[in-house]
Amino acid sequence: MAASTPNNQSFVLSAPAALFDSDTLMTDAAIAVIDGAIQACDQRLKILAQFPALPEVHVASCVLTPGLVNAHTHLELSFLAGKIPGPADFPAWVLQLIAAYPSAADAEEVFSQSALAGAQESIQFGVTTVGDITRQHHIVRPALQSKSPLGVVSFGELTALGRSRAYLDARLAAAMEPQESDGRISIGLSPHAPYSVEGPALEKIVAIAGKYRMPLSMHLAELREERDFLKDFSGPLGKSWMLMRHMDLLDDLVPAFSAGPIRWAQHYGLFNAGVPVILAHVNYADDTELSILADSGAAVAYCPRTRHYFGHDAVAPHPWQAMQQRGIRVCLATDSLASNPDLSLLREAKFLHRNDPSINPQILWRMITTHPAAALGLGSQIGRLAPGYAANILALPVANEMLTSCAAVCDYLVRQAPLPQRVWIRGKQVFSACSAT
Ligand SMILES: [Zn+2]
Repeated sequence: MAASTPNNQSFVLSAPAALFDSDTLMTDAAIAVIDGAIQACDQRLKILAQFPALPEVHVASCVLTPGLVNAHTHLELSFLAGKIPGPADFPAWVLQLIAAYPSAADAEEVFSQSALAGAQESIQFGVTTVGDITRQHHIVRPALQSKSPLGVVSFGELTALGRSRAYLDARLAAAMEPQESDGRISIGLSPHAPYSVEGPALEKIVAIAGKYRMPLSMHLAELREERDFLKDFSGPLGKSWMLMRHMDLLDDLVPAFSAGPIRWAQHYGLFNAGVPVILAHVNYADDTELSILADSGAAVAYCPRTRHYFGHDAVAPHPWQAMQQRGIRVCLATDSLASNPDLSLLREAKFLHRNDPSINPQILWRMITTHPAAALGLGSQIGRLAPGYAANILALPVANEMLTSCAAVCDYLVRQAPLPQRVWIRGKQVFSACSAT
């Protein structure tokens, strides 16, 4: 057996068990990887007989799983880890975040290092693909492309409100660059939020995303205050917000909308582009709004620890279970290190499960694998271990007596949130706990 993964990304990976997806566990399993893609998954002896020329890499005391998928994060904000103590008031938090931004002279260094640190932390927690929201795309994309193996859907974040609408075309063009990619980093668009993008600008962004087949991601219904802002620009996000006063963007041409952010997004066509749409947070939605979301086909990225940090849990529970019952695809995500202690998806699942042990751990497992993969438009490429999928694979330590069923393995992983022993992306080993210590 080879001691380490061969460099050509073609090998047989075997372990005491593999959790191919939330409903498929195989003991004494192996995965044949050729040129970074999964060729076959089966019993170890069958795979070894089928691929006799491939070297075998065996990991003991581990279960092989697909790499985890984080549908919503902001890697470039990793430099803010621990700098803004919670619980935080959102408008004040934004001001603190802006105050902590680096000077223009330091921006390239800070944001590139920050994105790379976030990417590395993600990988160490077993996350192999992220939906990354970025305003610093001209810095972050080249850094991730050249210095990180992480899979990224890079959503260029856009604002266009009132007097800043004149910049939208230039911002859109920049957010879409570069359009060529090696497939590891792909480009999406992120209209930021209802209080920073006016309706007609949203319409325009959606049209461009549809034309160029780019996924969309938007912070929506994150805050109760979005409703008042849209209605008459009042409330903590409105004219009285120090940031709004300072920027002086609002003018008479910004259309008001009285029926809340979800109908606002529907009205301006967010769900009509024919591309994947991820809505970040959706902390507040009533029954009718949930029906609108169910009909829309949009996915929701629920960030439990960030939500807790901002104090929303004290107001009302997140409607994620009602969403799932209506067929809305809900993912667990971390948001950024400016509002979350780390970028671990398993710890998000653990946090939820600890607060409500009746939650089925297999559902939580789907919310960090197959659901976010599909939400990003990558459901046929990542999120499960199957032929034709990218060889994004984790070796997670697990005791042999846990390897009795999918339910038992998922329960163990969600309760323990173990750190990976090893991580492969596209068949290349990108992390080993042995070499990290
Ligand atoms: Zn966010």
